[in-house]
Amino acid sequence: MIIVMKPNAGKDHVQHVVDLVREYGLKEHVIYGTDRTVIACLGDKRMVDKGAIENAPMVEKIVPILAPYKMASLEVKKDKSLIALGPSGFALGGKKIGVIAGPCSVENRKQLIETAKAVRDAGCIGLRGGAFKPRSSPYSFQGLGKEGLDILAEARDITGLAVVTEVVGVEQVSLVAQSADILQIGARNMQHFPLLEAVGKTSKPVLLKRGMSATLEELLLAAEYIINAGNKNIILCERGIRTFEDYVRNTLPLAAVPELHENTHLPVIVDPSHGTGHAHLVPPMCLAAVAAGADGLIIESHPDPEHAASDGAQSITPAALKDLMKRIRRVAEAIDKTV
Ligand code: PEP
Ligand code: MN
Repeated sequence: MIIVMKPNAGKDHVQHVVDLVREYGLKEHVIYGTDRTVIACLGDKRMVDKGAIENAPMVEKIVPILAPYKMASLEVKKDKSLIALGPSGFALGGKKIGVIAGPCSVENRKQLIETAKAVRDAGCIGLRGGAFKPRSSPYSFQGLGKEGLDILAEARDITGLAVVTEVVGVEQVSLVAQSADILQIGARNMQHFPLLEAVGKTSKPVLLKRGMSATLEELLLAAEYIINAGNKNIILCERGIRTFEDYVRNTLPLAAVPELHENTHLPVIVDPSHGTGHAHLVPPMCLAAVAAGADGLIIESHPDPEHAASDGAQSITPAALKDLMKRIRRVAEAIDKTV
């Protein structure tokens, strides 16, 4: 349930209600909105005397939260969350679309620094690159690990871009959080609950990718795990789902973008690289994602896709990225946004 305070409720009124909520054994999350404060209460509500809470000074009303995900839902927080990213503090979720680009994997220093500079010059705000790679085959390139993280950190220092990299296991969270600005939870790990809780205990923004067979409700419940552990800075990412269709690697359901916006305050970005698997399909899907209201994009870009250690087929060159950014800008303008 949500306790909605009257517009001019003071800190002492809020604290009094928080104390009552705790007396009933519930966990509270206080959300300070632009014009009023709401207190979301989580836990077993059977023993709660709602009348007693409703009578507390400056309480306006108590409303149930209908969505199974509570803190991630628009019912609890009506204004969209802005997530501050990297050294520049770029606010993802607002009128300015944030584009993140970079290789699937960090392969070596030259490859990453060269790509990072091109990504910055194209007008992107973030640099992606996997250091720990979740590969379907144990014989495929698994990433450079710690060395990859060091190269990413250097690229951030040179370019000022926000660095996004995947964390594959609980034991890596603190190591990856030292170098990355944004912790990526990959599609294969969307329901790795101990990992969700572990990134929830950090203060780094989390890029949560939709599992390839997960429903939107399951995606939002995964976000709920992270918020419940203490971290509200979550970016949802649609990266395509598995269907019977085989002309693409995954089917990219762009309707997920407006649907998520109707149900959550969290920003939503789209990954057209994993969402299609083919470089020639990436630009049109980027434009469509922006038109559908995506708050950002994450795009795989490699200086030499033919020789990429992973996902070359879906990687666009830095030159193609530069050209694509110009076209993204024009679509953004058409819907009163900027890039
Ligand atoms: C990736 O971003 O390189 C990746 C492995 O993505 P996903 O988890 O969406 O497959
Ligand atoms: Mn990839």
